[in-house]
Amino acid sequence: MQTQFTEAQLQDARTATSATAIRQCVHCGFCTATCPTYVLLGNELDSPRGRIYLIKDMLENQSKPGPETVKHLDRCLTCLACMTTCPSDVNYMHLVDHARAYVESNYVRPWPERLVRRLLAAVLPRPGRFRFALRTAGIARPFAPLFRRIPGLRPFAEMLALAPKRLPRALPPPEPLAGQARGRVAVLRGCVEPVLRPEIQAAAARVIHRAGFDVVPAPGEACCGALVHHMGRVDDARAAARRNVDAWTRLLDDGGLDAIIITASGCGTTIKDYGFLLREDPDYRDKAERVAALAVDISEFLTRHGPTAVTPRGITVAYQSACSLQHGQKVTDAPRALLANAGYTVKLPAEAHLCCGSAGTYNVLQPDIADQLGRRKAGNLAALDADVVATGNIGCATHLADRMQVPVVHTIELLDWATGGPVPPRLRNTLNKPRDNHVTAREPS
Ligand code: SF4
Ligand code: SF4
Repeated sequence: MQTQFTEAQLQDARTATSATAIRQCVHCGFCTATCPTYVLLGNELDSPRGRIYLIKDMLENQSKPGPETVKHLDRCLTCLACMTTCPSDVNYMHLVDHARAYVESNYVRPWPERLVRRLLAAVLPRPGRFRFALRTAGIARPFAPLFRRIPGLRPFAEMLALAPKRLPRALPPPEPLAGQARGRVAVLRGCVEPVLRPEIQAAAARVIHRAGFDVVPAPGEACCGALVHHMGRVDDARAAARRNVDAWTRLLDDGGLDAIIITASGCGTTIKDYGFLLREDPDYRDKAERVAALAVDISEFLTRHGPTAVTPRGITVAYQSACSLQHGQKVTDAPRALLANAGYTVKLPAEAHLCCGSAGTYNVLQPDIADQLGRRKAGNLAALDADVVATGNIGCATHLADRMQVPVVHTIELLDWATGGPVPPRLRNTLNKPRDNHVTAREPS
C-alpha cells in the first residue's frame, strides 16, 4: 500500500513502524476470509484491509478520528487471525495497538463509554478490587435489565452477567518443591485468572512439580498489561510491563529462572512482546527482551519438560484453540499433542481459526458481536459430541462456559488429572451424567 508520511512524521518511531506495516500490505484481501468481524458483518471497513486503510488515513493526516473510524477500530477483536492468513507478514498487532493509542489521545468518547472503560481499567487488572467488585455485583444485579435497555449503559449489564454468582475460594501460592529440583520457574499470577478460576494455576503448579521444577513467587508481579493495552492505554500497559520486568529480573539476578510460565495465553502474547512495548525506554529495553525470551506458554514448557507417567481417563476432549495462542503466539500443536499423549481423544471444531468473541474486555464493550461469535463457537464445539472442552485462556473458558452444557476447563487441568492430580472441579459433577444431558450448546445466561 502506498503511503505519504512526511519525513518529519517518520522521525516518530511508532509512526515509522506503522508506516512499514501499512506499506507491506498488498491489498490482496486474503485476510478478510478469516476475520471474524468481516465474516459476520460483511463490511470492508470491518475487515483487516479496511481497518488498515482507516489507520493509514488517520495517521497520515494526523487527523482527529471520527466516530465511524473509531467504531470500526473498536470492533476489531485483536484476535490476530489476519496475521496468520496474511502472505505479506503485515504486523497488524503493532499497527492496531498504535491506532488504539492514537484514538485514546485524540478522540473524546461519549461519557458512558469513558466511564465503562475507566472502570474496567481500574478494576480488572487488580485482583483485590476485582474480587471486591464481584462480591458486590449481587447488589447491582437487579438493575441489569434496566442497564440493558439504555444503550450507553449496556456494558454494565454485560459486566453483571459475567460476574459469577459464587466466587471460588482464593488458593495459596504453591509450596516449595520437596527434594531436589531440576530447575526453577516463575508462573505469572496475573489478575483475572486467579480470582475466577484459581484451580488453573494450582493444577499448573502440580504438573510443573511433577516435571521436577520448583515454582518460585515473584514479589511485585501483577497484571501483564494486556487488558489496558487493548483499550489504547499504552502508558498503563508500559507501567504494568515495567513492574513485571522488575519482579522477574530480581529473580533472574538472584538464583536464575529456567522459564516464565504463563497459563493465560492472552497474557502470554503480551509478555512475549515486552521487548517491543518497552523498545523506546533505554532503562528497560534490554531487561524486557531478556524477560520476554524466557516467557513460554505452559504447553510449550511441558512439551520440553514432561509430563511423563500418565493414567488415561478415557474421555473425549474438544480442543478450543485460543486466538492469542494460535495466532498471537503460533502455538498450535503443543496443547493438542500433550492432551493426546496423556490419553485423551482430541477433536477439533469446524472454524477453529475463528475467535470465540471473548477477547479481553471485548465481550463487555461489544456484547452483540461477542455473543454471535460465542454462540457460533459453542455450536461448532458442541457438534463434536465431546465430554469436555479444553482451552488455554481464561477469557475463552468463561465466555464459552456461559454458552455450553459441557464443562469448559483449562488444558492444564486435564493434564494434571491424567498425571495424578484431582478431577477438574468443573468436570466432577458431569462425568457420571448421561451424555445426552451435556453435549449441546445452550443459551447464555
Ligand atoms: S485482529 Fe481479528 S478482528 Fe481484528 S482485523 Fe484481524 S482478524 Fe479481524
Ligand atoms: S492479507 Fe495481508 S497483504 Fe493481504 S490485504 Fe490483508 S493485511 Fe494486506
